[in-house]
Amino acid sequence: MEIPFAESWKIKMVEPIKKSTREQREQWLKEAKYNVFMLRSEQVYIDCITDSGTGAMSDRQWAAMMTGDEAYAGARSFYELKDTITRITGFEYVLPTHQGRAAENVLFSHLVKAGDIVPGNSHFDTTKGHIESRKAFAVDCTVDEAKNTQLEVPFKGNVDLNKLDACLAENADKVPFIIVTITNNTAGGQPVSMENLRGVRKVADKYGKRVIFDSARFAENAYFIKMREPEFKDATIKEICREMFALADAMTMSSKKDGLVNMGGFIATRWEDIYEGAKKFLIPFEGFLTYGGMNGRDMAALAVGLDENTEFDMLETRIKQVEYLAKKLDEYGIPYQRPVGGHALFIDADKVLDQVPKEEFPAQMLTIELYREAGIRGCEIGYLLADRDPITRENRFGGNDFLRLCICRRTYTNNHMDVIAAALKNVYDRRHEIKRGVKIVWEAELMRHFTVQLEPLG
Ligand SMILES: *Cc1c(COP(=O)(O)O)cnc(C)c1O
Repeated sequence: MEIPFAESWKIKMVEPIKKSTREQREQWLKEAKYNVFMLRSEQVYIDCITDSGTGAMSDRQWAAMMTGDEAYAGARSFYELKDTITRITGFEYVLPTHQGRAAENVLFSHLVKAGDIVPGNSHFDTTKGHIESRKAFAVDCTVDEAKNTQLEVPFKGNVDLNKLDACLAENADKVPFIIVTITNNTAGGQPVSMENLRGVRKVADKYGKRVIFDSARFAENAYFIKMREPEFKDATIKEICREMFALADAMTMSSKKDGLVNMGGFIATRWEDIYEGAKKFLIPFEGFLTYGGMNGRDMAALAVGLDENTEFDMLETRIKQVEYLAKKLDEYGIPYQRPVGGHALFIDADKVLDQVPKEEFPAQMLTIELYREAGIRGCEIGYLLADRDPITRENRFGGNDFLRLCICRRTYTNNHMDVIAAALKNVYDRRHEIKRGVKIVWEAELMRHFTVQLEPLG
């Protein structure tokens, strides 16, 4: 008999979770204004709202916490972190921040000004927010394949090099840098190939532009490169990481993803001028150069986390769990962004709730229905998240409308995956009865999906 695949870790600590009744959930939804971000975590049985900062740390990481150096200036934990980042990325200059968006805020304060154009592949919402709040424009140059959820291509997160070149040909003087998100979160946790990263570098060099990687899931991206690009099948994850980052000038990082910690982020770069420019904003916004928003102990845990998560076994365990859930959905015929990405399933809500009009936010309705069904909390990555066009103030219905189910790192077992799949199947089986969605009662101007208040229609 073939020995089945199993996790590359065992469990040393547990945290109880509780089920609830449908009546309770109905009441809690009402109180939360039908926005699952407003639910308390005790009201959630299985939490798939994000994989950001929700993972479990290892025994080695907890041990490192005890050795954190909390010195205001020159902490040993900072230098340990910096050395780890340099070893993995090749970037010599490191600025720690409290999370990924803070890294964006600091770096973009230096690099982005009003009227600028920042091309990239499906800018993440906070990235887009930090560009648009500076009255600059994010131009999406993702490959068209990303929009067709049923198309199976290995690197659906790629940048369309023709679109990128056209954008630069037209606006070169207004482009401060190109940003490539690895993996492409918004398009479904889809990877970007090394070949494509090399192509981006070529276009950037042609116009004398710099390339920044939004690197939240760089290790997962490296795993996909190893599995799907024959040139790298025998390379280690760390070798692939070095090669990816050799094609960039700088990175922003949300350590809450592939850093395997609950809070943290950083900027890293090979260029002194970027470091010097960003430094001026790090100190007032985040803190002094050797902590910038992080505790010494948290930098210590991050250094270990980055090291652990750039090992093949860790990534294989994680991505195989995501694939396990995807296989269940295949059995039930539930449409999602194919092939499944690294950190989440992106259910194609437009296809599931095809009777709910766009204007009534089908993916948000599906998010609500899944919570109603079994207390599982997903997240809308669709028309609500897309915000309004900054100029016309119209809703943006041009992209995909997904219910995203994130899988936390080292947190849930495959039994939990079975529960998620069964609950989704129950909603899917009664999809024809769901004809109406929700309407917005209140919304913020930017990043509205976090705080939006909704009312169900019909
Ligand atoms: C999470 C994320 C960010 C922002 O990071 P935070 O730590 O949540 O502030 C930026 N880009 C991508 C691709 C992300 O996934």
